[in-house]
Amino acid sequence: MTCAQMGGECDAKITGATQDEMIANAMKHLETVHPEMAAKVKAMPKDDPMMVEWMVKFKADFAAAPEA
Ligand SMILES: [Zn+2]
Repeated sequence: MTCAQMGGECDAKITGATQDEMIANAMKHLETVHPEMAAKVKAMPKDDPMMVEWMVKFKADFAAAPEA
């Protein structure tokens, strides 16, 4: 999946064997390339409606991705 597919701003590839790994790698990418977005995501509670919606979309996209 790409950064953009995960709600990011560029086409960098984010890889991971599991959803947790993908999220961890995505956060690392955000911290490196989009520090402002990383700060925003970190400031958001996990049960924020936006985060919940994001997780649902991410899980669906992850399941549909041809290569994990
Ligand atoms: Zn990016």
